[in-house]
Amino acid sequence: MEINEFKELTEAVFAAHKLKCELTEQMFDIFYKMTERLLSENEKYNLTAIRTVGGVIENHIFDSVLPAGGIPEGARVLDVGSGGGFPALPLATVRPDLKITALDATEKKVEYIRATAELLGLSNVTAVCGRAEELSSDGSEMREKFDVVIARSVASLATLSELCVPFLGVGGKFIAMKSEKAIHEAKEAENALYLLGCVQKCEIIKPYAVDPETDKLFMVTVKRTKTPIKYPRKYAQIKKKPL
Ligand code: SAH
Repeated sequence: MEINEFKELTEAVFAAHKLKCELTEQMFDIFYKMTERLLSENEKYNLTAIRTVGGVIENHIFDSVLPAGGIPEGARVLDVGSGGGFPALPLATVRPDLKITALDATEKKVEYIRATAELLGLSNVTAVCGRAEELSSDGSEMREKFDVVIARSVASLATLSELCVPFLGVGGKFIAMKSEKAIHEAKEAENALYLLGCVQKCEIIKPYAVDPETDKLFMVTVKRTKTPIKYPRKYAQIKKKPL
């Protein structure tokens, strides 16, 4: 696909969802290269189930840009379970002010994110390989070091909270990207969030987007107190006995 056609398609997707986000020529160029690279590398190893340019724009780029409006200026952001770099890479594209760390347990995916960020000139992205529950445990360098922790398609909210919240500094924001299941999962995760030290439990926000029919929901929690050092637990325990 030529870049002009790509641009038109992207504009159409953003307009269809009434997304209030101005994209510059440079951003289109980065998204174009990101899409080409994702689809070609995906033939070598599994990064996404999506196989078309339109699908990448809709499900990866558009979706990843949605929470941008809910992230404070200059924030240190951690993307837990970033996979092929979503939402980390598109977020870094539209918000060059953010310092984004993409974390994933799979070395190949982390290498892909690192190389892609370099190729696209996204100097505000770093990629780290490891398991969230190990890197956020008591005494770890990354614990309580982020202003915003974000995650898409990694685990149910209760499990995800234990993996993500300990990375947040006091007053930080946890953005779990969820669909309609958000409301049900939020109820289920209330106790987990309480135990993890989140004061304001769940709030559903729709940053940027204005169309209630099509827009995705996001869960936001604000951490105001300290997370007890016993969390997170080992992954086997998290899975077996969610908070
Ligand atoms: N966020 C991406 C990828 C979702 S797939 C997207 O929305 O497209 C889930 C990813 O989370 C996988 O790449 C997997 O390796 C990673 N993952 C799952 N559990 C993890 C954990 N405990 N720590 C770090 N990464 C994890």
